[in-house]
Amino acid sequence: TGKDDVVLKTDGVTKSFGGLRANNDVSIEVERGSITGMIGPNGAGKSTLFNIISGFYEEDAGSVYVNDTDVTDMEPHEIAGEGLIRTFQTPRKLEGMTVREAMLLGPQEQIGESITALFSAPDRVGEQERRNLEQAEEMLERFEISDLARSPATEISGGQLKLVELARAMLAEPDILLLDEPVAGVNPTLANKLSTFITDLNEEGITFLIIEHDLEFLMEIADPIIVLDQGEILVEGDPEAVQNDQRVLDAYLGG
Ligand code: ADP
Ligand code: MG
Repeated sequence: TGKDDVVLKTDGVTKSFGGLRANNDVSIEVERGSITGMIGPNGAGKSTLFNIISGFYEEDAGSVYVNDTDVTDMEPHEIAGEGLIRTFQTPRKLEGMTVREAMLLGPQEQIGESITALFSAPDRVGEQERRNLEQAEEMLERFEISDLARSPATEISGGQLKLVELARAMLAEPDILLLDEPVAGVNPTLANKLSTFITDLNEEGITFLIIEHDLEFLMEIADPIIVLDQGEILVEGDPEAVQNDQRVLDAYLGG
């Protein structure tokens, strides 16, 4: 489709749950350096697509490429190794962990070696773990949540948790970050902060693919925007065009 440097590509991704086709022949390309938005009514298949891209669901058909590598049959942690990290619409409850400890979980919610060591043999935390901890502290600082480091991860607000998720994702040094509804349930002040962080990171070279219900949020930072409806791509274009597209208005009214 004329994009010159594609960091993420799906080719004909199809997925059914029982009789329901959640993704039907979905082909997208995300250009390196872009903040690409993804919208669509509830149940359109957005999260399913993220789950397939990041290796959490197995597709019925189709392929996924990250940096031109075929990752279709890879495990989530392997896909993370190829440079793609995602966050979850509903972050896992991080029971019994402080925010600092949660930061040391590996990418894609894998339990990292560092945290295993911290829990099983806290006195024998090695050089690598110390470095990880240092990077985690730096990242907490960058996202202005250092004061939460010692808080139980279950006791911070939903908005703060989204910041922790973003900070944690960044520790994996991704080429592309997939965010599933980053501002859902987040207060406007924090949402503004989040959009500043995202645009800053983007200027530093991180590509984003962001699912979001809050159109206002997405319209300000994303271009292009892909619209998914009933498992299929309905429209792709710049925010203005998408916002004024009758098919998009119909999809939201009909949904
Ligand atoms: P969106 O994120 O756009 O709201 P989803 O991808 O979560 O949509 O869901 C698309 C459709 O697939 C919905 O009808 C949903 O109920 C269904 N679905 C998603 N995940 C599963 C699953 N694990 N098992 C069964 N049905 C699912
Ligand atoms: Mg969803």
